[in-house]
Amino acid sequence: MAATLLDGAVIAQRVYAQLKERIQRLHVRGVQPGLAVILIGENSASRIYLKNKAQACEVVGVHSEILRFPADCSEDEVVRRLQALNANPRLHGILVQLPLPAHLNSERILQGIAPAKDVDGFNWVNLGAMVAGHTLLAPCTPLGVMTILDYAQVPIEGRNAVVIGRSAIVGKPLALMLIARGATVSVCSSKTADLRQYTSMADILAVAVGRPGLVDGSMIKPGAVVIDVGINRLPDGKLVGDVDFASASQVASRITPVPGGVGRMTVAMLLENTVTAAERSVGIGANYPAQ
Ligand code: NAD
Repeated sequence: MAATLLDGAVIAQRVYAQLKERIQRLHVRGVQPGLAVILIGENSASRIYLKNKAQACEVVGVHSEILRFPADCSEDEVVRRLQALNANPRLHGILVQLPLPAHLNSERILQGIAPAKDVDGFNWVNLGAMVAGHTLLAPCTPLGVMTILDYAQVPIEGRNAVVIGRSAIVGKPLALMLIARGATVSVCSSKTADLRQYTSMADILAVAVGRPGLVDGSMIKPGAVVIDVGINRLPDGKLVGDVDFASASQVASRITPVPGGVGRMTVAMLLENTVTAAERSVGIGANYPAQ
């Protein structure tokens, strides 16, 4: 393998160490960061994610609570509870575990979280701020990608970055973050006629699609930094990304593995956003705009 591994577990540990220091400083001011997680219905994947989040909270010292709703609960019920959580000063971050049961309007529910507590970064205020070039609370997965690039000291300004996938929670915000850092960014999707034309010019290639083997080594510019966001479960139970790791790692200079890459960062960024929100609640860091 020619490429160096960008190990999400190692980088996440460094993030946690910094968070512990920030949490210590908050303790001095009598504040413990608090995170509320809303879980609606019984989804086994969600339960695993929740367990990981709760464990990470415990390790760094973030108070966390899980609020469970039955699968047949009403939207109004959830929105009312969100309003109470928005007003609770002990809780600095709120997230709703996705996916939601089909009868619920996820947009209405997600927009019910106060922007200052929206640690998943999905509220339109937070997404809109990114368009204007500000980062208030950014979506965790693209924030994790940027943190990996920064820890690895990957130059961004002036480089060609290609993002495959244009979802509102991964691809699009990642493209905005890369633009804000001075990269020349192309965003590809299922409508892109010739993917290879773009991938082959990428100094930084981020793939967030959900299709195993979408990108292989022959499509990658030699020496590129490859960030594989995809998470796919193969029929044999194996977890893989969107990038064919065996061939890509022969061509790239640096590459994230799946598992153990971006996925590890997403939870770390959730806690970082929670700590940031707690700091802002006592006037540390950038002021949050009045609503
Ligand atoms: P999504 O389904 O919302 O979006 C997928 C995007 O891929 C779309 O923009 C679509 O146009 C594009 N696409 C589909 N087929 C394509 C093709 N053949 N060529 C180019 N583009 C194509 O998915 P999402 O929520 O953005 O998630 C993407 C992947 O990232 C999934 O595998 C998901 O599991 C993973 N994910 C990982 C993390 C993590 O923590 N590592 C977090 C979120 C999502």
